[in-house]
Amino acid sequence: MTVAADTRTTAANKSFDLGPAAELVSKEEGHRQPLAPEFVCLEDFSPLEVAYDFGRVRREDIEAGPRSIWRYKHLLPVPSNVEEYPNTDPGCTKLVRADNLAKALGVKRIWIKDDTGNPTHSFKDRVVAVALAAAREFGFKVLACPSTGNLANAVASAAARAGWDSVVLVPSSLERAKVLMTAVYDGSLISVDGNYDDVNRLATELAGEHEDWAFVNVNVRPYYSEGSKTLGFEVAEQLGWRLPEQIVVPIASGSQLTKVDKSFRELGEVGLVEPSPYRIFGAQASGCSPVASAFKEDHDTVQPVRPDTIARSLAIGAPADGPYVLDSVRRTNGAVEDVTDAEVVEGIRLLARTEGIFAETAGGVTVATTKKLIDNGQLDPDSETVLLITGDGLKTLDAVQDHVGPKATVAPNTEAVDSALGL
Ligand SMILES: *Cc1c(COP(=O)(O)O)cnc(C)c1O
Repeated sequence: MTVAADTRTTAANKSFDLGPAAELVSKEEGHRQPLAPEFVCLEDFSPLEVAYDFGRVRREDIEAGPRSIWRYKHLLPVPSNVEEYPNTDPGCTKLVRADNLAKALGVKRIWIKDDTGNPTHSFKDRVVAVALAAAREFGFKVLACPSTGNLANAVASAAARAGWDSVVLVPSSLERAKVLMTAVYDGSLISVDGNYDDVNRLATELAGEHEDWAFVNVNVRPYYSEGSKTLGFEVAEQLGWRLPEQIVVPIASGSQLTKVDKSFRELGEVGLVEPSPYRIFGAQASGCSPVASAFKEDHDTVQPVRPDTIARSLAIGAPADGPYVLDSVRRTNGAVEDVTDAEVVEGIRLLARTEGIFAETAGGVTVATTKKLIDNGQLDPDSETVLLITGDGLKTLDAVQDHVGPKATVAPNTEAVDSALGL
């Protein structure tokens, strides 16, 4: 694991093939700098974001591309030959028309973007696949992250597939399934006594000390976060190359929500869709709802909180992209709402019962928040709404174990079954 920090420093002087990515731009004052594994602008201390020089991108080329996020490589910061390297190749998950759920909630149309179908069963495979591709181009050989769980699974799996070492840091309170689903890939999994915000701080320090480690959501974060755009690209392509009218997105750091917004704008800019108005709604659990609080109190900054919720994959008390989420939501005439843990469980059960899709707690947050936004009149029942279901229920069985189970335990004969069913 002592790979060539020197090799990398030398590499920093050459220019990299990251496809259409042209440079890094600071989010606050727009300072520009060459593409590099850096995440903060040293002039205004704001996050760096990838800026592009898009060539001509045609629908036919995308449609003829691979059945993975790499079909959108001309809109991502990845090398032009990205598909030639081992990666998890996530994406192209189902967009399900959810008529039963729409009926239960009393709205015209709902679509479920079902990201439980990714290789490690959450949307995090998208961001990690892009981070790995960019990190390879920068000359890294170790993939690392601080994680609330899903990212740990995705990093450990992608590193294994690429033949890289991985260093994954998680809070010691993490769900058992997420620990095992990381450890099985045999990288280095470190359990840290502390919450996610402690783990994240530790990772930032380690990233400073180990220059040969690509921390997907720290030093290569500008590239990583662009992977979330593929959710927006896919939704638009699956709707027949148009933007949805309303979309509900769960918020942890807030990156995904801002990148879905960016993806819709880019699709319009490059002419892949006819630009049309869309509204973005953010979903949080009440036990960790700093962005929802800021939205409701009309603040521009987000006050950190100490998380306490069963929705651990969203339990980031100091969300890095919080202020930018507020920008996206306000600009698109959306809202941010939060729901209790009891509502999260009811949201998981409602989606399972109506559509046969078993989501993790983050999905419960999205469904329950959608219901609340409909009930309080913020979401328009006559417009169509897309819900991002970002992770699989098998990862958070604890959340439902006290709420569902067998109707009865019976002797192996037909009378016993009939009687249990009240027949
Ligand atoms: C990480 C995560 C999110 C949100 O991620 P952001 O940090 O806001 O980009 C949503 N759902 C699940 C299941 C996640 O693991």
